[in-house]
This record gives sequence, structure tokens and C-alpha cells, in this order.
Amino acid sequence: MNLTQEIQRDVLQMFADTLQGRLILPHDDSYEEARKIWNGMIDRQPAMIAQCVTSKDVVKAINFARDHHLKLSVRGGGHNVAGLSMNDGGLVVDLQLMNQVLVDPEARIVRVGGGTTLGVLDAATQEYGLAVPTGVVSATGIAGLTLGGGYGFLRNKYGLSCDNLIGATVVTAAGETLTVSETEHVDLLWGLRGGGGNFGIVTEFVFRAHPVGPEVMLVFAFHDGRGEKMKKAIELYRDFSATAPDEISTLMACGRFPEDEHFPEEVHNVPFVLYAGVYAGAPEDGQKALEPLLSFGTPLLDFSGVKPYVEAQQMFDEDYPNGLRYYWKSLNLTELDDAAVDTIVKYAHSQPSPFSTIDLWHIGGAVKRVGADDSAFFGRDAAFMLGGEANWVDAADDVANLAWLRGLIEDMKPFSDGSSYLNFPGFQEEGDEMMIRSFGSNYGRLAKLKEKYDPENFFSSNQNVKPQKDRS
Ligand SMILES: Cc1cc2nc3c(=O)[nH]c(=O)nc-3n(C[C@H](O)[C@H](O)[C@H](O)COP(=O)(O)OP(=O)(O)OC[C@H]3O[C@@H](n4cnc5c(N)ncnc54)[C@H](O)[C@@H]3O)c2cc1C
Repeated sequence: MNLTQEIQRDVLQMFADTLQGRLILPHDDSYEEARKIWNGMIDRQPAMIAQCVTSKDVVKAINFARDHHLKLSVRGGGHNVAGLSMNDGGLVVDLQLMNQVLVDPEARIVRVGGGTTLGVLDAATQEYGLAVPTGVVSATGIAGLTLGGGYGFLRNKYGLSCDNLIGATVVTAAGETLTVSETEHVDLLWGLRGGGGNFGIVTEFVFRAHPVGPEVMLVFAFHDGRGEKMKKAIELYRDFSATAPDEISTLMACGRFPEDEHFPEEVHNVPFVLYAGVYAGAPEDGQKALEPLLSFGTPLLDFSGVKPYVEAQQMFDEDYPNGLRYYWKSLNLTELDDAAVDTIVKYAHSQPSPFSTIDLWHIGGAVKRVGADDSAFFGRDAAFMLGGEANWVDAADDVANLAWLRGLIEDMKPFSDGSSYLNFPGFQEEGDEMMIRSFGSNYGRLAKLKEKYDPENFFSSNQNVKPQKDRS
């Protein structure tokens, strides 16, 4: 007997009837579509999916799950790498339909529904020549991104997504709806700025926005990464980043061109180094400032230029289709010396899948100006965030791809403090150990906050921090 059969049919029907949104059950036609998430490695079968449209729906879903002892997970954009938004046999609170964006252009404040994707947010803010710092792929959810930090092309100028969060509406485990702001429940605002989905379901985020665009200078240049060239390209990126102005937020990716119609045949299987990023200022200044990344040899392919900000934000979209097999891990790097660079090159030149990359995200400017304990987010001291992305097609290649990325992370540990960026967490297989390292000096305060707002750890399908009382 499954869970939905154990809960009496009329009780389930009553719950469904009280929702303004809808309750999807395994026998419904829409169930298969509703349980699908971005990562094809994840295949979970929840007992029910509550597609909520209001905060009241969310309250009802939380109360129902609690009263019936159901596991609960929360789906924002469904792009969590570890697939935390789906569970087996429990209830999923699906916020996809709560995707409204309200921009106050005078106050430069934006109210964003808890299930909104970055593309929807960027399009709405750009109507007013504004932007909230987000990430670099438009189908990603603003919720998971912000609650875990939020690295993007505006970070060094305006901070992480979580640094721009100034308020929220949160439904707690007790089913209470709280208004969080810089003057109300300020402890909770601190926790939402990078502390994961530990404290409740955010039905609305309130962000500070900044004037950006409508056109920006984008660098998106693929250079030759064969042999020693990859090492030189990483060294250039390291040295360039050390003195780059705050306006520049970039990443570099080391990979290999796939045999794919999107790329000319002559580059197929050639190792590359991609410099990608935005200059958040006058495009003509950006052209000059980004020149060193453009003129490192003649790019094999170059999509750089002055572009609408919205287009710059979509450059990676096609590279991450739903349903491919993905395993991403990260490390906060304290140094990028010769040995570290050699290790990256070794792994980039031996990746089993042509869709994989090893990425370096420079951390500087506004990200570093926020104090280590001013928000729950940890990792600002790092020089670079290393993101390892294993992306492949066939299940038969799972073992080789997982081993490749785990090898990279293991071998790069000596160049890090052991903490990682929790939005690139693999399958979170290290459990508590990963959380303790990655929340660093903020872990203790998070555990106390968890005890205050969620003492029974009802919200546990996340970057989980145990309540203080349960810590051994
Ligand atoms: C293709 C791709 C590109 C990415 N690019 C970037 C990038 O440029 N920069 C970057 O920093 N990260 C990036 N990431 C990582 C991304 O930030 C995380 O995967 C994040 O978890 C995605 O959020 P989501 O809402 O889509 O996730 P979901 O899978 O929907 O949710 C993940 C978790 O977040 C919590 N959560 C979600 N919604 C809510 C809510 N409303 N209230 C409370 N808790 C909630 C829950 O704990 C949930 O389990 C990328 C990921 C992918 C797959």
C-alpha cells in the first residue's frame, strides 16, 4: 500500500479542494511531467505534488505534510544539482506558478515570486534598465540560487544574489507566514542570505536592483587550450583577475569542443579555454578593460561584443538541456599556484565527456566587501571558486564521469580550505561534514537559527543544518 492510499481518499480530496493551485497525484496525466527536474541523474517519485499559487496554498501544503508525517521538499526552479526539490514518497511544494515579478523603478526594489526563473526576472527588470544580480543560465530558479549564494556576471560590482536580498515572505514549519525585512525578523534575513532552504518556504523575495544596460560589453571568447596553452590561459586569467576593476565579473571554463553541429568541424575535440563575463559599466570602457582576455592569442571562436544584457545572460542556456546526466562539485580555492594550475590542466585534458568543463569563478570586489559573518554565506575569502561540471549523455558512462570529477576535487583540496560552494554540491554525499566545512564560522549561528525557526528539522531536503539541540 502506498502513502496516498494510506491517507483516506476523502482527506486527500479535501486537501486538493482547499488549494487554489492543484494537487497532482501519481495517476494524473500531468504527474510524469511535474516530477521531472533538470538533472537526468535524479528519478524520484513523490506521493503528491502541490502546485501552489499563493502563500496560503503553501501554508496548507506545509500543514498537510506535517499532520500526515510526509517528507517535504520544495521546488523553485528545479535546477538543484543534487535534485533536492524532489523526494520519494513525500509531498513536493512546487512553486513554479508563483513567478510574478513586480518592479518599483523609483525605489529600485523588485518583488519576486518564489518559483521565478532568472530569465523571467532579468526580462522584467530590464524593462526599466535595472538588474538584480543573478546567475548565468536563465532556466535556473532565483530561490535556490539566492538561498545558496548566487554567483553571476554582476557579482564583483553589486554582490551575490543573496547580498541583494532585503526582504522576504516566509512560511515556517509551524505554518506561520512571516514578513522578513531589514527591520523585522532580521535574524532570519541573515539566514536567508546564503543559509539554504533551512528556515521555511520563501513565497516572495524582495531584492535591491541596480542600473545595468540595456547594453553591456560581453566577453565570450574560446581560446586554444591544447598543450601548454591551457596553462598559460589559466595563468593569464589569474593575473588579470588580481587587478580587474569591480565592473568585471567573469569565469573561465576549460573543456573540449564536442562533435556538435553548433561548432565548426575544425574545432571538434580541440581543448579550449573560454573566458566569459560582463563589464557592468559603459560598454566602451568594457571593451578596453576586457581586452587582455580577448587578445590572448586569436580566439578559435569569439562571440564577444556589445550585447543586450538579457542576451548576455542567455549565452550558456543551450549548453544545459534538461535531462542530461549532471554531477557538479566545487571547492573554494585559497590559491592558484603552479601546482594547482597543472592539476586543472591534467583533468581538463583527460575528461571522459566532451560536455564537461572545469570552471574558475573569480571572487572579488563587492563579494569580498561583505563581512564574513554579515550573512550566512561563507566563502568570501576564497580567491576563486572552482566549479567542476561533469556533463554526459549515457548512463553507461556514469562511473567514469563521477570518478573523473571526484578525482579532480580530491587533488585540488590542498589548494583550498576544504569548503565548497553549496549550490554546486554533487549529490551532497558528504552530508553534515560538507555543511560544517562549507558554512564555516557561520555554522553554529545557523544551527541556533534552525532551532528557533524549525526545531524539528521539518525542512531537511536542502543544504541541511541540524537544530542546535540535535548536534552531537
Ligand atoms: C544550469 C545551471 C546553471 C547554474 N548557474 C549558476 C550560476 O550562474 N550561479 C550560481 O551561483 N549557481 C548556479 N547554479 C546552481 C544553482 O544556484 C542551484 O542549482 C540552485 O539550487 C538552483 O535553484 P532552483 O530554485 O532552480 O532549485 P530547486 O531544485 O527548485 O530547489 C533547490 C533547493 O532550494 C530550496 N528552495 C527552492 N525554492 C525555495 C523556496 N521558494 N523557499 C525555500 N527554499 C527553496 C530547497 O531547499 C530546494 O531543495 C546553476 C545550476 C544549474 C543547473
